[in-house]
Amino acid sequence: MKKAQPFFASTPTNFQGKFPNISTYEIRIEQDRSGYHSRDGKPTVGLYTEKANLPPQIGCVNPRCHRGGLSLEWYLHSVKKDEPFAYETDFFCNGDEGTPGGRKKGDPCLNRFHVEIRANDLSSYKYRSDR
Ligand SMILES: [Zn+2]
Repeated sequence: MKKAQPFFASTPTNFQGKFPNISTYEIRIEQDRSGYHSRDGKPTVGLYTEKANLPPQIGCVNPRCHRGGLSLEWYLHSVKKDEPFAYETDFFCNGDEGTPGGRKKGDPCLNRFHVEIRANDLSSYKYRSDR
């Protein structure tokens, strides 16, 4: 016999509900490495841990960028329970500098995200960018 689920049970919104395999994590996202969009000419760095929830979408710092940004949840779904996970990669923003509605597609956004993900074993880890 099938038991009815309350509607909220299938869509957990907190991190633990979404990623039960992840006990601890650190995610470092560096974008705009040349500091082109920042006031102080420095890259924009975001640091996320299980204590500060990862937003579903990391916004692109290019103020003219539309449809850009980064979603990392897909990567976190491949983390296995109690297994250390480390991943480092670069993403080009897939946004463009067109109009907000998308009628006119502008130049592709040149912003790049450098992402370092570490989960379930943070003990001996140091971000490569900080070395
Ligand atoms: Zn962008």
